[in-house]
Amino acid sequence: MNEIILTCLKTSLFSAFRRFGFERRQPSCNLNNQKSSENPSLSGRRIFTERIFGQPRHKTQQILGGFASILTMGERKSSRENHGSDYSIHLRGIKRRKMMKKQKNFISIVSLILCFAFALAACSGGAQNGKETVNSDDSSLPTSFAEGDLPGDTDSAQEETLTVAENPPKYSSDEKLIALTYDDGPYTKTTSQILEVLKENDSSATFFIVGNRLNDGTSAVLKQAVDYGCEIANHTYEHKNLMKVTDSERAQQIKAANDAVNEYADVVPVLLRAPGGNYKGVEDKVGMPLIQWTIDTEDWRNKDASNKSRTAEQRQAKIDEIVSDVLNDVQAGDIILMHDIYNFTVDLTKALVPKLIEQGYKLVTVSEMFEAYGVELEAGGVYRHARPESAESKPSVEPGIYTVSISSDPTLNLRDKVGAGSVVLAEIPNGATVTVLQCADGWANVTYNEYAGWVSANYLKPYKTVEQ
Ligand SMILES: [Zn+2]
Repeated sequence: MNEIILTCLKTSLFSAFRRFGFERRQPSCNLNNQKSSENPSLSGRRIFTERIFGQPRHKTQQILGGFASILTMGERKSSRENHGSDYSIHLRGIKRRKMMKKQKNFISIVSLILCFAFALAACSGGAQNGKETVNSDDSSLPTSFAEGDLPGDTDSAQEETLTVAENPPKYSSDEKLIALTYDDGPYTKTTSQILEVLKENDSSATFFIVGNRLNDGTSAVLKQAVDYGCEIANHTYEHKNLMKVTDSERAQQIKAANDAVNEYADVVPVLLRAPGGNYKGVEDKVGMPLIQWTIDTEDWRNKDASNKSRTAEQRQAKIDEIVSDVLNDVQAGDIILMHDIYNFTVDLTKALVPKLIEQGYKLVTVSEMFEAYGVELEAGGVYRHARPESAESKPSVEPGIYTVSISSDPTLNLRDKVGAGSVVLAEIPNGATVTVLQCADGWANVTYNEYAGWVSANYLKPYKTVEQ
């Protein structure tokens, strides 16, 4: 971190004085090309500076350039006035040297102030990098939003977005990614324990916070979440049903929550979860992507306060049951719903996280997962999962006995070849049993009574599951 700050300081100082030098020379003629040939090393260093900062559109450079231009305007004007007596030229020379001295002092002070501000910005940016890798938190910011789309969008958020655009996604689409999401917090007692479980397992999650829960007391756990690489997202300011409020109140609820997160954790949420999942009819009015879920753990139904008479064993059995259900249903790209305000959820997290990792999943933030799978999140879009295309359209089944389970039709077509356009050999009734010999490209090669052919693997359920 210190090295980065030092580099930033050095480079911004260098950049400031380089820019100043350029602006002073430019008025007499276009010296940019000449300079390259006159002093190749300087030109090389300029390119180096631009690489560090991006193009000269960088704000620091623009501001410094602007200052330098204003300050050197008088000088440019006097250099064009070539007439006048020797004495007046002499006087003008003295005057100009004095002026230049003042300008240099002023530029030095301005540069130092800007460098200091830049170093501070670098420090606070670094503090958000939860896993101690450069830009790790930045990657949680999606790159696809149009700037200004989002309520509470700020200049700093836009600059971070620009930085992200140049970075590759943190995870690859080859990885099995899952996003754990926690709603309704923060609640320091339970949220902090969940964060420790995530940290111990080298995992992160997305916290959809309720804005009015943020205060000086809860800000520490919120910042801890950011430090641990977690994503902070919007769950409105007062947990209001977005379908039952006026347009202006809805906008206010969303903006106030974003502002609160920005104030207490210095990040701006880019995702929204509608309280209760109630978004229908107002998608176009929220100005943020709406994140729903694939699997509801129903932790809220099993919280201790609602189950006071159960024994410790019954409580543990419920946790085991939920973990087992999640493991059966989950697939890469899924979003799992929990609430970080219950002790029950702390224990559920302790049991679930290591099991998911055991199955080869990586637990990442919602933004990281969608970015890795190449799904662009758009304001007003509703997202339940980020399952990779192949997983959804091409199911695979192992050889064995299966039951036909089709809800859209009373029978399933048995075809002579792979593909919906091939000849139908027989119609297999819903609930009938088939034997799968092999599976390819989402199609299963099966035998059914005296027939043999292909059916879509989408409509096959393992025989045992149906029997239970
Ligand atoms: Zn909620």
